[in-house]
Amino acid sequence: MAWYWRALRVRKLLCPSVRNFYLKCRITYLSLTYNHFMDASYMADVCMGPMFWFVDTFTHAIGKLLVAAVISLTASVIFIAYWIGIPYWWKKNHYACIFLVTLGHWLLVNICFHYYMACTTHPGFPPEGELITEAVSICKKCIAPKPPRTHHCSVCNRCILKMDHHCPWLNNCVGYRNHRYFFMYMAYMVVGVIYLIMAGWELVYNSIMLSEDGCDELELEGHSVKINKTGALIPVTGTVILDSSFLEEHELEPVNPYRRKALIYMALINLGVLFALGALSVWHSLLITRGETSIEANINKAETLRLKEQGKTYRNPYNFGPKNNWILFLGLVEGRVFWKHILFPSTHEPIGDGLLWSTIHDDEKAVEQEEIFKLCKMKIHDVNNVEEVILNK
Ligand SMILES: [Zn+2]
Ligand SMILES: [Zn+2]
Repeated sequence: MAWYWRALRVRKLLCPSVRNFYLKCRITYLSLTYNHFMDASYMADVCMGPMFWFVDTFTHAIGKLLVAAVISLTASVIFIAYWIGIPYWWKKNHYACIFLVTLGHWLLVNICFHYYMACTTHPGFPPEGELITEAVSICKKCIAPKPPRTHHCSVCNRCILKMDHHCPWLNNCVGYRNHRYFFMYMAYMVVGVIYLIMAGWELVYNSIMLSEDGCDELELEGHSVKINKTGALIPVTGTVILDSSFLEEHELEPVNPYRRKALIYMALINLGVLFALGALSVWHSLLITRGETSIEANINKAETLRLKEQGKTYRNPYNFGPKNNWILFLGLVEGRVFWKHILFPSTHEPIGDGLLWSTIHDDEKAVEQEEIFKLCKMKIHDVNNVEEVILNK
């Protein structure tokens, strides 16, 4: 039993010193790594850092490839429209063909112009080494003041005025100076594919469903009828051998075996673009109507919830009402008109300088200031009156 009491005494002596040592180490570690801003989202940001870095680097690296892909796909669709669409409509109706060609080229010019401008116009950066009168915060990455609506783009690695998002398909940021070009490109592209689908609908239907070409349709031997893909029975009046002499005799052109494949390819591309860009255009139209960017939509949503919990209502300071928001976004001020500056390519600059932004509170402030000014005036008047009274006395 003696050894047991001895062990108990040793434990009693050792335990507090080990515990103290552990506490000292813990306090040293916590004091060295203490961060006032540490919370779950900051921890998640730090842990996801390598992944963000990879996505940013990858987006930057494939930017030029994606621009080349957009140009190639657009060029291939235009080529098919020239090769198959225009001859088809010319044969069908000369006047309709002239109308469709004019309409198509108007859309094409607008699509090319707005895409080029969206890619090559810089989105707008805060001035370096100059005084920014209305900076709202400091960018932790640029270590520079940030004007209102400015956000840091981790792909471009710099601050962007009125940043909306970094677009890999443009290999450029969408911000203050090129936001209109980006939206107009999407809008014209969606109208363009709707135009192609409507103009080419009959052509594709005939080619795919009715197998007008007949290049890969096998005839049923020994029957007086054949079945096409719509399920209709077509009487076979006789066997026709399509050799060159027959084609020349009947003034027919040989069918290109790639024609049907090209039409299917074009139909798939058009439908894909219609759904993808159509949804994106609708989303951006809603944002413009509400006077916010993609980034501000998230901020405004969070602020609305936060103030709602406090029983208050949040108002987006840049929301001047749907009509005014669109006028401001499209830059239709100072005599600019819709038909000239929107329906045709226009390089007009956006309103303001991207550093100072009017808000819905400006009017309220102006009224307040006017009232203060009036009060001051009244006081001065009163003081003068008092002085006059004293002098007279
Ligand atoms: Zn920055
Ligand atoms: Zn960017």
